[in-house]
Amino acid sequence: MLSVSAGAGKARLRNVGGKCSAGLNRPLLPVLPSVFTGRTELTVRSQLSVKKDMQLITQPIFMIGARGCGKTTVGRELARALGFQFTDTDLILLQSTGLSVAQIVEQEGWAGFRTRESDILHESANAGGSQVIATGGGIVLSETNRRFMRAVGTVFYLYAPADVLAQRLEAVPEEDQRPSLTGRPIAEEITEILLAREALYQDAAHYVLDASLPPPDVVSAIMQRLCPCAAG
Ligand code: ADP
Ligand code: MG
Repeated sequence: MLSVSAGAGKARLRNVGGKCSAGLNRPLLPVLPSVFTGRTELTVRSQLSVKKDMQLITQPIFMIGARGCGKTTVGRELARALGFQFTDTDLILLQSTGLSVAQIVEQEGWAGFRTRESDILHESANAGGSQVIATGGGIVLSETNRRFMRAVGTVFYLYAPADVLAQRLEAVPEEDQRPSLTGRPIAEEITEILLAREALYQDAAHYVLDASLPPPDVVSAIMQRLCPCAAG
């Protein structure tokens, strides 16, 4: 049995023979500015059947959005729910260099940092397999990256307003290793960055989701879009 309530957005992947076509059949996806979903509840049984269908997905699922929107948190939970590999480009960058973001930027500048993160994005995605890839907030600054993610996978933009992002980052400043881009207070900086990058996130995304919802709800919303069968 499937119990879904108040899902406002529409799943756009085609459903072929009752199976999900994500990863098999590239969707033509017009990106709307605010395609949000309400709370979605799936029973345990339906989650299992959705998970089975999800195993047909062979292309990477990308999480994009500003710092603090939950790319790592939601991406990890989504990967766990689907039984996919979880890849975090920020984490790989830190592990492979042994340096913090601040140290990389200090040594190589933002340009060096961006080149490194772009390389990791491409290598991770090209490694293949069913995986959820959480990216860094600035990954969309490169048009090549935006085109690449859209072409090879399914891209979810986790949108949350600046005040929500600022609250999250201020609550756990130690988790946020990034140096300030502007030297100004975090809320101001986030507002400015969101404004500057919104069009880029929209450009890269197949779907835009309300990331101010609790992580399990964001995960459910993603699953619903990946597999129309999750919407009943
Ligand atoms: P990102 O990877 O996009 O920078 P994170 O996943 O690291 O963001 O999350 C940043 C902070 O916000 C963490 O402390 C995390 O627990 C919290 N967080 C993430 N998503 C949510 C959410 N949907 N609701 C509440 N808190 C969240
Ligand atoms: Mg992250």
